[in-house]
Amino acid sequence: MSGMLRLEGLRKSYRGKGALRGLDLDVADNEIFALLGPTGAGKSSTLLASAGLIDLDAGRVHLAGRDVTDADPASRDVSIVFEGFNLLPVLDVKDNIAFALRSPAYREDDGEIARRVGRTAELLRISHLLDRDVGTLSGGERQRVAIARALVRRPKLFLLDEPLSALDLKLREGLRAELRDIHRRDRSTMLYATHDYHGAIAIADRIGIIDGGVVQQSGTIEEIFSLPANVLVGKLVGSPAMAFFDAAIADGHVAIKGSAQRMPVAGFGEVARAGGEGLVYGVWPEDIEITAAGTPGANAGSVYALDNRGFERAVQVETAAGSFRKVVPHTTSLKQGDACGFVLPATGGFLFDRATGRRLSQQDGSPA
Ligand code: ADP
Ligand code: MG
Repeated sequence: MSGMLRLEGLRKSYRGKGALRGLDLDVADNEIFALLGPTGAGKSSTLLASAGLIDLDAGRVHLAGRDVTDADPASRDVSIVFEGFNLLPVLDVKDNIAFALRSPAYREDDGEIARRVGRTAELLRISHLLDRDVGTLSGGERQRVAIARALVRRPKLFLLDEPLSALDLKLREGLRAELRDIHRRDRSTMLYATHDYHGAIAIADRIGIIDGGVVQQSGTIEEIFSLPANVLVGKLVGSPAMAFFDAAIADGHVAIKGSAQRMPVAGFGEVARAGGEGLVYGVWPEDIEITAAGTPGANAGSVYALDNRGFERAVQVETAAGSFRKVVPHTTSLKQGDACGFVLPATGGFLFDRATGRRLSQQDGSPA
């Protein structure tokens, strides 16, 4: 593949604790790739390693086909933007943006610097701020300047570490759209780290789910939905996340505790046919139907919580085999504490091994 960034087996420990534990990642040329994972997953370490800003214990970093593992940061042609990026307070906005272009590594002539600063400022809608001191800017304006400062170099690879997390929702959405627009015009390659699921799928062509210092799965969100690699992935994508139920194979069927519903084993592949305990059945909440209590054929549950999401409600249903959350219309008659029913889909569920979390099968019958 025409890879822009290829990370192979990255390992990094801090005082004996693994931040990166054999991390592999491929980012293609010209794509926006979101690295999605919770705090502590290893996102920042991955970006720092790509930029050459931390020493790795093991692994290789390839940039545009070149092994840069031992190359110093300045020679890598990447830019990195951090959350709450510190601008240089003694310089005005335009000199902050121009800073890197004036460094010995990028030495450009004044005319070219002015042209590039002007164009980048236009892209980020900060042209009117160029003569301002950075101390007088709002948080959102500052973050735009920080992004402009990294972008103006037109690096091969643009690393963004939660660049929008500190901004309010409206600013975040606006700046995200602008980043996509800049990407469309420049065809730059962006690696965008975030803990925000909605933000990740809104901006990215492909996403990588990171947890425990390992990329658990990479792909388009559709690919990940259709074949989640393991339980961790199911917990980190979707809104709400995947619903999980303790499951076993009984009488040649998949059964979940407290439910009379039996999912046909034939649909769950070899692993399920072999029978067994210690299984987890996972299904996207969109595929679960919530019914009135006592509906024939439905399993029993109860409404534990109901969150208002404006036009929607997120309902949390308790069951004998685990709880799940699902979005329902705001017109729902469900109330907290109510008994309710739920029906699992005949197809579209996944079986996972509880001990390892790995997906064992998919419902079309093929083993994982
Ligand atoms: P993320 O950006 O996904 O929150 P990080 O890459 O920052 O994750 O951190 C991964 C793990 O490594 C965390 O457990 C974090 O506490 C630890 N870590 C990161 N940087 C350092 C450091 N400089 N010193 C000690 N521990 C660190
Ligand atoms: Mg981080």
